[in-house]
Amino acid sequence: MPDFLHPDKENYSDDELMQEEKIRPQSFDDFAGQRKTLDNLEVFVAAAKKRGNALDHTLLHGPPGLGKTTLAHIIANELGVNCKVTSGPVLDKPGSLAGLLTNLEENDVLFIDEIHRLSPIVEEYLYSAMEDYKIDIMLETGPNARSVQIGLNPFTLVGATTRSGMLTKPMLARFGIQSRLEYYTVELLSTIIQRSARVLGVKIYEDAAIEIARRSRGTPRIANALLRRVRDFAEIKGNGEIEINITKFALNSLNVDEFGLDEMDNKIMRVMIENFRGRPVGISALATSIGENPETLEEVYEPFLIQEGFIIRTPRGREVTEKAYQHLGISRPRNPGE
Ligand code: ATP
Repeated sequence: MPDFLHPDKENYSDDELMQEEKIRPQSFDDFAGQRKTLDNLEVFVAAAKKRGNALDHTLLHGPPGLGKTTLAHIIANELGVNCKVTSGPVLDKPGSLAGLLTNLEENDVLFIDEIHRLSPIVEEYLYSAMEDYKIDIMLETGPNARSVQIGLNPFTLVGATTRSGMLTKPMLARFGIQSRLEYYTVELLSTIIQRSARVLGVKIYEDAAIEIARRSRGTPRIANALLRRVRDFAEIKGNGEIEINITKFALNSLNVDEFGLDEMDNKIMRVMIENFRGRPVGISALATSIGENPETLEEVYEPFLIQEGFIIRTPRGREVTEKAYQHLGISRPRNPGE
């Protein structure tokens, strides 16, 4: 799969990330879908604003590219406060967290991406900051070392994670608001694509937007990335407008399958059928066979394949469905495993 179509932004170049920034929605009104999450957040944000308080700490979870970072920025915009951004792996020492926390202004948002990757030491340090807006700072080292407690401005921690199951109980308990983001329907993705095209200043026809949406794996990040590539084809090989023929031509040239499945999705199903003969398989055995780590398999690939009905989870492991056999054009044995 080309890197720019990966749902996980770790695979993006700086240029792709800059382009993504340009089309990021800035307000609740611009943000498509996730209605339940948004309806609740709008109430909580309005209530916090009315009282002049910090919003409760908020946890957003769900697969990559569905809008967690975008929502964190929108929450800050709607509250009229700053949004400081960091991530679990970057916050490697309590000292770096203390630096960030002491610089927050009243009711600011601190966004921590990949919060499940915080080290236990940093996580523990965060507890008192979240609960009482206080932290302990060590002064001097060696025999003169002593710690002083300092007060922080009230703030909102917005945490994002692809793996809420990896968060510790005490951490989870400190988030008063918890929302799960879901994959988007084709209709919603098509709305997002049309909005992004307007921001990029390129004309797109509705059927072309739907075609891109159908192949976007339920993920706005992929939808926007495909839109940018199709626009390149339209500019170089067409008349600059994104219409259905150039769209199909571009998507075929990019090897994007009509269900939006990429090479890895197809490889997973093929290995389950060919190597494991359609029998239930555990995540680690499957990960080893496809040469991917089990976390990525579980966070990035499996949820979409399950949602679309290509694989199911059973107590004995993951199994491919009839739909997967059909998709790959392989006939299903009467008794899988034989
Ligand atoms: P990650 O977990 O990898 O950090 P994420 O869930 O934080 O991903 P975002 O960076 O917020 O995802 O979104 C990816 C891109 O998709 C952004 O450029 C944003 O513009 C777009 N996007 C996401 N959700 C929406 C939405 N609901 N409406 C419009 N655009 C969206």
